[in-house]
Amino acid sequence: MNKVYMIVGLGRSGTTIIGKKLAEHLGGFFLGELIYLSSRGLENQSLCGCGEYIKDCEVWSPIISKLSEAEKATLKCAEEDLRIKNVFRFKNQSTYRDLFKRVHSLCGDRRLVDSSKIFPYAFMFRKDPNYVFIHVVRDPVQVTSSMLSKKYIPELGTEGYLHNGGLLRTPLRWSVVNLLVKYLLPIRYTVFYEDFIEHPEKLLAKIAESTPNALSGHSLAGNPSRFGDQTIKPQPQKKKFTWFEHFSIRALSWPYRIITRRYL
Ligand SMILES: [Zn+2]
Repeated sequence: MNKVYMIVGLGRSGTTIIGKKLAEHLGGFFLGELIYLSSRGLENQSLCGCGEYIKDCEVWSPIISKLSEAEKATLKCAEEDLRIKNVFRFKNQSTYRDLFKRVHSLCGDRRLVDSSKIFPYAFMFRKDPNYVFIHVVRDPVQVTSSMLSKKYIPELGTEGYLHNGGLLRTPLRWSVVNLLVKYLLPIRYTVFYEDFIEHPEKLLAKIAESTPNALSGHSLAGNPSRFGDQTIKPQPQKKKFTWFEHFSIRALSWPYRIITRRYL
């Protein structure tokens, strides 16, 4: 089986752009968020990164056609079960792990980058040496600002919220998710988004040697930055916070910041 580079961390931390650039660097295949294969690829008319509907995409269509009806049904259950709230009462963990490993193996002979990033999903593969875990972390103020801002969603042709995490819920989740990832997964590299924006090539070279011939543009789900070519550049903070809002975000994100001595 080929190596799978598993991106983990909280949404809006730059996981999509980093996953995409990592796959290009590796000469690999950027899958996008494979955990959503059922809802985005099998059930709804969602767009692949190439602009085609996933079921019509030249890359995803043959992969989907190799899945049995029973496997498709299991993928649907996995999407619901593998939520952070279910982390301590994992159901069918070995079934889901085996099925996703099979899907990974159907995705060809390139190194794969899976930006599903959901902790319980990544946790299933923690003991498998074929999986390389990359933890992506971004300033909690920026993550909360992004979470509270609308994005243009090409699939809908309109602006909307990808997820609206809430002003207090987002920094709290930021601490919980990043601490779970740090202590319960065998993280090979931690990439701070701000460092990546400044020196992308340097950070990618630390992870692996560059290889040509990536399979680009066929990501399954995730931030709209997966569409088209994206330049790596600092993103302005979209939503400005009052002093009290800023204080609340800093207070709720305190545990991870203190432990790692970042974003102090
Ligand atoms: Zn495609």
